[in-house]
Amino acid sequence: MRRFFAQNINASGDKAVLTCDEARHIKNVLRMKPGDEVLLIDGSGAEFRSVISSVTGDSVELDIIEKGACEADPNVLVTLFQCLPKQGKMEVIIQKCVELGVYAVVPTVSDRCVVKLDGKDSKLQRWNKVSVEAAKQCGRANVPEVKAPAKLSSLDPSEFDIVLFAYENEGDRTLKQALKAAGDLRSAAVVIGPEGGFTPSEAEELIEKGAVSVSLGKRILRTETAGMAALAQIMYELEQ
Ligand code: SAM
Repeated sequence: MRRFFAQNINASGDKAVLTCDEARHIKNVLRMKPGDEVLLIDGSGAEFRSVISSVTGDSVELDIIEKGACEADPNVLVTLFQCLPKQGKMEVIIQKCVELGVYAVVPTVSDRCVVKLDGKDSKLQRWNKVSVEAAKQCGRANVPEVKAPAKLSSLDPSEFDIVLFAYENEGDRTLKQALKAAGDLRSAAVVIGPEGGFTPSEAEELIEKGAVSVSLGKRILRTETAGMAALAQIMYELEQ
């Protein structure tokens, strides 16, 4: 069933209104009509089986029939701290990591990041739109938030059960070994460096703070591949 992102579900939870892109898609692209069924997600983790009640100028009204839980969202909440990559790669990283089950993404600024953010939040809005589209496409009800960019030094390990620091110079411990040693987890952070990797002092600081350095395998992965590889390994190991 088609999924749409609803920001306007009423307080009693039995009606919703879609506007803007979502309404245009229903009306002009899919040409759906009153009586057609769709699934609504509101980003909270729930999904709502709904029937279109009216299609007007620029809005679509729906009656909600049933609220259910979504099986597609992982129980372990994995936040990706992705050091800012060069041009355009962030969108692909967000799209693929949402498909792979990431809970949230923090665009992260580290010493060797080449990209400088201009402080405008148009990029952040665009990244969150990519997340919504990816969540809808892959059947998730929880829409991962792309948070405001933050400095690597602001990462607070106490917010997570484990911080997995993907380090190209880690020769011993694999991600799998780190997860096995950690036992049951409710949350995890994964830190991925930029194209130029981490400086020695960044690596030292992360480890001092309690992050666990892990190898993702024998080959050096591009920054845009590393987050996806880490997510896929975590979801496989934790059976999420
Ligand atoms: N410039 C670095 C070098 O040549 O060694 C490579 C940096 S790599 C392109 C970007 C980031 O991906 C790294 O900082 C790390 O977080 C992650 N990464 C890539 N391959 C990895 C691996 N085999 N194990 C752990 N992390 C890896």
